[in-house]
Amino acid sequence: MGKVISIANQKGGVGKTTSAINLAASLAAIEHSTLIIDIDPQNNTTSGLGIESKSVENSIYEVMVDGVNMSETICKTELDFLDLVPSHINLVGAEIEMVDRNQRERILAKAVEEVKGDYDFIIIDCPPSLGLLTINSLTASDSVLIPVQCEYFALEGLGQLLNTIKIVRQHMNPDLDIEGVLLTMYDSRTRLSNQVADEVKRYFDDRVFKSVISRNVRLAEAPSFGKPAILYDASSVGAKNYLSLAREIIQQNKKMFKDSPVVAE
Ligand code: ATP
Ligand code: MG
Repeated sequence: MGKVISIANQKGGVGKTTSAINLAASLAAIEHSTLIIDIDPQNNTTSGLGIESKSVENSIYEVMVDGVNMSETICKTELDFLDLVPSHINLVGAEIEMVDRNQRERILAKAVEEVKGDYDFIIIDCPPSLGLLTINSLTASDSVLIPVQCEYFALEGLGQLLNTIKIVRQHMNPDLDIEGVLLTMYDSRTRLSNQVADEVKRYFDDRVFKSVISRNVRLAEAPSFGKPAILYDASSVGAKNYLSLAREIIQQNKKMFKDSPVVAE
């Protein structure tokens, strides 16, 4: 059974999509079969993996609103071990279309069940909100990875996110765990980055991943070429940072992956 991890933070631009794409690609590069689900109407994960959302027949929108099977939406990517469920701009209206549906928080969880057995990891890129799409994602997940940008007001809004996680645990998904807090866009030269990192570590303690994502221009450039950093420039600091994160996540889930080359090392 695959481990389902939501990448969530309602704050915009903190590195959710960059983390979803590059973590998923790194897991795939270590030969762990991985599915990435784009549940953000902005469809940045979809385009960042070189897939044009207009050209796909079925997307996550059809899964959420029309009850199409997840398996009918899956696209191959350039990486052998990485598949994608694309998003579509139509998803903008999905929260309203879902509103009078029975068990509307569990639509994604039910859809994910169908494909869970086919993958080691399922990574979900959430939109920057705590609306019904993010609630569906948290309800469908085993854990949540929280990217925190090393910038002013880094911790702002995290209370609301933690509260939402608590509510999802109480009502929908008691087993939802926090996979970890990921420091993103870290710049070791600035005092601010270091202050934010210290503050986040004080607050979240050992929940903060040891792997830290540096500010790296290759990570920002790669999506315009439709590639994860590992294919765009494998030697870049960004690609290496996400590979380190993937290894850390495999290690922390090693009970699931006894035979992984990473765990065996
Ligand atoms: P949204 O809330 O809109 O979905 P997001 O949380 O998914 O945003 P990203 O799209 O991943 O955030 O990143 C925001 C911007 O910062 C993008 O232009 C991205 O290329 C850039 N970026 C993300 N991480 C890094 C990094 N480590 N180094 C340099 N640029 C980065
Ligand atoms: Mg995003």
